[in-house]
Amino acid sequence: MLDHLHGVTMIALIQAGGAGTRLKAITGDTLPKPMVRICGKPILEWQIENLRNSGIVEIIIVVSATGKDIIENYFGDGVRLGVRIRYIEETEPLGTGGALFLLGKRYREDFVLLFGDLMLDIDWQRFIKFHNQKGAMISAFVHPNGHPFDSDIIIADKDNRITGIDSKNNIRNYYYENLTNAGLYVVNRKVIDYLTTATKVDFEKVILAHFVQEGSAYAYRSSEYVKDCGTPDRYYAVNSDCESGIISAKNLSKLQKAIFLDRDGTLNKFGDFVTKADMLTLQSDASESLKMINASEFLAICITNQPVVARGETTIEELNNIHNKMEDLLGKDGAYLNDLFYCPHHPDKGFPGEVPELKIECDCRKPKIGLLKRAQERYNIDFASSWMIGDTKQDVQTGINAGCRTVLLTCGDPNYNKKYSEAQPTFVANSLLEAVSTILRMK
Ligand SMILES: [Zn+2]
Repeated sequence: MLDHLHGVTMIALIQAGGAGTRLKAITGDTLPKPMVRICGKPILEWQIENLRNSGIVEIIIVVSATGKDIIENYFGDGVRLGVRIRYIEETEPLGTGGALFLLGKRYREDFVLLFGDLMLDIDWQRFIKFHNQKGAMISAFVHPNGHPFDSDIIIADKDNRITGIDSKNNIRNYYYENLTNAGLYVVNRKVIDYLTTATKVDFEKVILAHFVQEGSAYAYRSSEYVKDCGTPDRYYAVNSDCESGIISAKNLSKLQKAIFLDRDGTLNKFGDFVTKADMLTLQSDASESLKMINASEFLAICITNQPVVARGETTIEELNNIHNKMEDLLGKDGAYLNDLFYCPHHPDKGFPGEVPELKIECDCRKPKIGLLKRAQERYNIDFASSWMIGDTKQDVQTGINAGCRTVLLTCGDPNYNKKYSEAQPTFVANSLLEAVSTILRMK
């Protein structure tokens, strides 16, 4: 089986045609954006090395007439980097999608598509495997970011099929998941047939949108590092991430560290059970704490018991709406969760209005570790270098059961904590912010 997978031919198409107008202060007038240096090396070189390390060695670079010489003189045929590079020259600008037509004239293979101004380090094989398992025509790499309100939002169903793309120019009067399109794709070769002439088209707005309509586009959610360096501020931030080693550490082929966070009482204020989005307000230090985690090598993952679903006090749809509201409030402050896992079950039967099929002894209700295991599988997490933070001893016991270190927040309900009173946290903190600051200092 493995041989079969490795036998699939996969080429990479890198769009390196655009000019980096907003980076002129750094690049000078003539340097194409993909040639901008991060830690001394062009972004394009980082990309090629990342592809090669993922086993993709056939690379096609789309160049513009103005950037052609600079890029070709630097990379040549790619032998120096252990790959084979060929070039397609755009004689006129074809947008982000039009070059697929030029590709199609010469190649008939599945391919990965990336834009030359993105700094990234991802496990492409993991992405390709997802694409193949879904039988997708196009898979888009999606992730939460710190500014969802001015980003195009990807809307996906529970099977990760993309059902819509909501442009940043639209007015959004609903709560939405913080899921933005990073600009990396795995593409079935049949997609090439969509373009019959060399016309200027936007890949997302025209080509991806078409396959979303067809129901054959999927969203691959990842915590790996993909950022554009299109403004001087972003450029300096990416350089500093490169120096600290965070960019390569977040590649999912490497073991990840996570901070697991309880929800009620830890991220949001807890008085009563939250059964409607209106009832949710964030703890005052939630956004600041998450921003610190987002800037570190840790993933931020919420783990929450929501027996309110089993008890019939809310629905899965409303629970998703509650979580979207939480993401939107965090997003407004520039913070995000990498993911959230919930347990909708409850073991005790016999209450009016309950949902019988959810009244079960499951393997995911904390302090069981089913939710943490799902996160571990999705993000290759090493429990021993991860933490669980919560306001109850039940959270502490959960962390201990998984082999994580733990923090108990003193704001929790002391009565509730009688149940798992034996559980001893690694340390106690007065607030989430104190807990996170302490963890990040300890590394
Ligand atoms: Zn459960």
